[in-house]
Amino acid sequence: MKVLFYGTNSYDEHFFKKIMDEYPQISIDFTDANIHKETAALAMGYEAVCAFVNADLGGEVIRELAEYGVKLILMRCAGFNNVDLRQAAESRVEVRRVPGYSPQAVAEHAMALALTANRHTHKAYIKCRENDFSLTGLMGVNFFGKTAGIIGTGKIGRAMADICRGFGMRVIGYDKYENPETGIHYLPLEQVLRESDLLSLHCPLTDETRHLINKTTIGSMKDGVILVNTSRGGLIRTEDLIDGIRAGKFFAVGLDVYEEETPYVYEDLSDQIMQTSTMARLLSFPNVVVTSHQGFLTVEAVEAIARTTLQNAVDSMEGRATSNELTGLMQE
Ligand code: NAD
Repeated sequence: MKVLFYGTNSYDEHFFKKIMDEYPQISIDFTDANIHKETAALAMGYEAVCAFVNADLGGEVIRELAEYGVKLILMRCAGFNNVDLRQAAESRVEVRRVPGYSPQAVAEHAMALALTANRHTHKAYIKCRENDFSLTGLMGVNFFGKTAGIIGTGKIGRAMADICRGFGMRVIGYDKYENPETGIHYLPLEQVLRESDLLSLHCPLTDETRHLINKTTIGSMKDGVILVNTSRGGLIRTEDLIDGIRAGKFFAVGLDVYEEETPYVYEDLSDQIMQTSTMARLLSFPNVVVTSHQGFLTVEAVEAIARTTLQNAVDSMEGRATSNELTGLMQE
């Protein structure tokens, strides 16, 4: 099977090439270009394409890929909100993905964001490099003895709960589908918001969860709360978050994902003028730390992504149905 790998980063190429020998039935060509209308033609002559969270796999692009002979889309990520599954089904293009490659990778990044935003290590690092050894602006709060609220207690939420317990925190949670095996003390959302000193978002973005964090829910939170989002930007109504930050509601905010991320994420725009004021405003606050959708970025997670993606290709070639296939969802 010939696969065109879109949107290649050096680490993708490294980790895929490392295990390619184990999959002699697959050959991969790598391109830096991401998939969109202008680049779909590159897939001519390939049976499969490999894409990531920032690809444009809307109906038009999928129709074009199918015309060029593409029969399989290998998503090297868990999310597929950027893939038009209905069009894929109509065009007889199979889609497979990599769910749950390393929940710990994302949870550890959530805690890293919480600690950075709380203890200002990002600022301390720069200050020390500039020979500024003063402690002005670096005051944090203890996590020990405080309450962590986990919203969405699936794979990543549970991993975050374990980390918070390790910090000596009381862990409470809210989930639409409570799971007693998590050991998390479940409470109604309003109560989790009211009691938490650290709030970490881990539920998927759906019609129901879009703007779950808004003016009203922010109003229910404790003053001085630390909020972390490593799930999807649309969970937070950003304008309301900005109002809350301005009103002094938050001790700190850590965001790996944000509503407007698509034009920025994974791009080096360091020599360009920022075109949206929302991101510029978020970046202007001293108690907000932003990263660029990198929660998944660990050696273990990327290795697992590479292996599962290649196995998905083999399963497709051999006509093996697995739970990584999105065929069932195509029919919805
Ligand atoms: P998961 O499916 O294991 O868990 C999601 C949990 O959310 C489930 O327990 C589910 O019951 C709960 N949920 C669903 N609807 C809800 C609602 N309306 N209210 C409250 N809870 C609800 O998923 P996961 O592997 O833990 O991933 C969680 C999210 O993390 C993904 O949806 C994805 O958006 C995000 N993610 C981010 C990165 C990153 O790099 N930052 C990487 C992977 C995943």
